[in-house]
Amino acid sequence: MTLVVLLGAPGAGKGTQAAVLRDRLGIPHIATGDLFRAAVRDATPVGLEARAYMDAGRLVPDGVTIRLLEERLGRPDAARGALLDGFPRTVVQAKALDAFLAGRGDRVAAALLIDVPAEDLVERLSGRWICRAAGHPYHLPMNPPRVPGVCDIDGSALIQRDDDKPETIRARLASQLADLNAVIEHYRSTGALRTVDGRQSIGEVSAGLLGAIEAIDAGAAGRA
Ligand code: AMP
Repeated sequence: MTLVVLLGAPGAGKGTQAAVLRDRLGIPHIATGDLFRAAVRDATPVGLEARAYMDAGRLVPDGVTIRLLEERLGRPDAARGALLDGFPRTVVQAKALDAFLAGRGDRVAAALLIDVPAEDLVERLSGRWICRAAGHPYHLPMNPPRVPGVCDIDGSALIQRDDDKPETIRARLASQLADLNAVIEHYRSTGALRTVDGRQSIGEVSAGLLGAIEAIDAGAAGRA
């Protein structure tokens, strides 16, 4: 089984890269955030338990999160492997995953970190502006309006929501990065960590991630 963990802060480009890796590796992309949103939508017992935490922007407790993930990994399409996105978010989750895989005589093949410095993340995440009249979205500098500060579609002024202001983003990131850093240290200590510079272009980051996985496959084949 090829179990790959994708690590990166919000804004690091994890979603984009997950799609590339899933297509290239031919293994399912399992995002615990998606699993939780589906559980909430279907009003399952897990969904009912998770909902309040999600609404508050907090992590769902480890116990229910680990059960949800293990149940998903037990399905037939994950028999060959999986690309995990959004899990593990805590060291307790990381250790539970290690124990689950060890029970099958296996381990995490690679924990791939898309590394972007905190201040770059703030810049990326705080680039979102919307127009006052209808909320048409823009991103500076990635998707600017033709005339600075004015909506292309209806001519109204662009404003920034409080949630998207740099100081709000900095505060939210600080707690997320503390959790992420603990998980990174876990995988550094197990030897599974591979780091790719997330400030490169999308194509370069993909190439770096795929190269890291191929190096592991080659190493495993060499040992076999
Ligand atoms: P995401 O789509 O990854 O941002 O996840 C959305 C929400 O689901 C998060 O804000 C958490 O409330 C919950 N969630 C997703 N993955 C985890 C996890 N591994 N541990 C705890 N909570 C999670």
